[in-house]
Amino acid sequence: MADKQYDVVVIGAGPGGYVAAIRCAQLGLKTACVEKWLNNNGKPALGGTCLNVGCIPSKALLDSSHYYHHLQHQVAEHGITVNNAEIDVSVMQKRKDKIVMMLTKGIEGLFKKNKVDWLQGEASFSDRKKIKVTPLEKAGKVIEVAAANIIIASGSVPVDIPVAPVDGEQIVDSTGALAFREVPKRLGVIGAGVIGLELGSVWNRLGADVVILEAMDTFLAPVDQELAKDALKVYQKQGLDIRLDCKVTGSKAGKKGISVSYQNGDGDQRLEVDKLVVAVGRKPYTDSLNLSGIGLGTDERGFITVDDHCQTSINGLYAVGDAVRGPMLAHKASEEGVMVAERIAGQGGHINHNTIPWVIYAWPEIAWVGKTEKQLTAEGIEYRVGSFPFMAIGRARGMGETTGKVKIIGDAKTDRILGVHIFGPQASELIAEAVTAMEADLSTEDLARTVHAHPTLAEAIHEAALAVDGRAIHI
Ligand code: FAD
Ligand code: AMP
Repeated sequence: MADKQYDVVVIGAGPGGYVAAIRCAQLGLKTACVEKWLNNNGKPALGGTCLNVGCIPSKALLDSSHYYHHLQHQVAEHGITVNNAEIDVSVMQKRKDKIVMMLTKGIEGLFKKNKVDWLQGEASFSDRKKIKVTPLEKAGKVIEVAAANIIIASGSVPVDIPVAPVDGEQIVDSTGALAFREVPKRLGVIGAGVIGLELGSVWNRLGADVVILEAMDTFLAPVDQELAKDALKVYQKQGLDIRLDCKVTGSKAGKKGISVSYQNGDGDQRLEVDKLVVAVGRKPYTDSLNLSGIGLGTDERGFITVDDHCQTSINGLYAVGDAVRGPMLAHKASEEGVMVAERIAGQGGHINHNTIPWVIYAWPEIAWVGKTEKQLTAEGIEYRVGSFPFMAIGRARGMGETTGKVKIIGDAKTDRILGVHIFGPQASELIAEAVTAMEADLSTEDLARTVHAHPTLAEAIHEAALAVDGRAIHI
């Protein structure tokens, strides 16, 4: 006999799990969520990677460092003089920690409001319908809970590489790089992916000499390559020393710093840094769940195998978020969580994996939804492209943010929007219009005929849509 019986037990309270739990409870299902996270004060915390060591703290630091950089490099043209701008890293970090604390406490409040039971501890399957919860403190009592439906939302952890073992001091992962207590003089980053670029940008803006070593010879392979090439030039001009085709082969930490060895087209190279960030990707985390004990399979990369509706091979058992296939993004995890909750409640939940937006929060930002030209060419789909630069947008001029462009790709036959790619100011906000348009299956003509407020950055989307048909006005 289990200690408690629920309609639904959710494992993990990241954006996949906590959202699924709240939606289940809203739909009248008796719901518990098991979470084992301890924050940096050793206190149990909800929110998972995203709130504690991911999306939220990284964006807090990106904003702090953006203001600092902006003061030093961009306000002079407005006639504003700032002498001796200084950054107090401990204040910046305290602000970040406070934001994380407020948001994670906020989830606690939402659990209470919706009557979701938070079971503090580590979950593992005792059978297909029962979960053993081992408490966080040694003296606590192990309990067993049973549920007709179980949702695994156990997330992901950073990939580690033997050539640069993380020691948490000199060689760190993304979590360590979010917590530096001072600006490193020389910072090395392995991996020019989303996380490497964002963290490299933070510390570069605050004064570190940043070198990013990337094994691939293509910069940001999943991004539209015309925009990626523009972005590479802009980020390098900002001082980010991004070196492509450089595979890290070893590292040696010593008193004077870390000696990183890598190979490029010219042979063996060496780089001396004070801190090294390993940002080579993330892998699904299912270690403590005892999946083999219930006969649940993972693929060769460790992702739990699910269908389009996040149903596993076991009836009543679902998995969402970073633990399953698809982009490792918080909003993807949450939408999968909502879909599963609604399906458990007998509704027809659905997620459109073709309209999940991606954002890279370097500055200017990169955001996109749908397909790239490269993908469409490979699929043999004929398309038309319209582009429009922020340079020709009045609002962008006023803001002093004229770098980048919007690019819209429409189907050559049906004019349906197939992809929207933005490199420019506030691309993260602008992309929402494109997502809505694609979700509604709109054509580029629909966007071209939609009235956009003037003066706004969104006019670049309007003009790019007009440009698909060769009738942009302001260029
Ligand atoms: P997670 O958030 O990883 O949560 C899983 C939870 O499950 C954890 O709290 C873990 O403790 C718990 N858990 C695991 N196993 C057990 C167990 N056995 N028992 C109890 N609890 C368990 N995504 C974006 O969309 N936008 C961004 O800007 C962004 N920035 C990022 C920046 C950084 C530095 C990082 C590292 C990630 C970023 N991401 C971003 C990715 C985003 O954080 C993840 O995609 C998201 O957190 C995945 O959600 P999830 O619910 O699947 O898993
Ligand atoms: P992402 O998966 O977007 O976080 O990106 C991680 C990046 O790290 C990828 O672009 C990889 O090519 C890169 N990478 C992985 N291993 C190495 C290595 N040993 N040296 C340099 N770059 C690496």
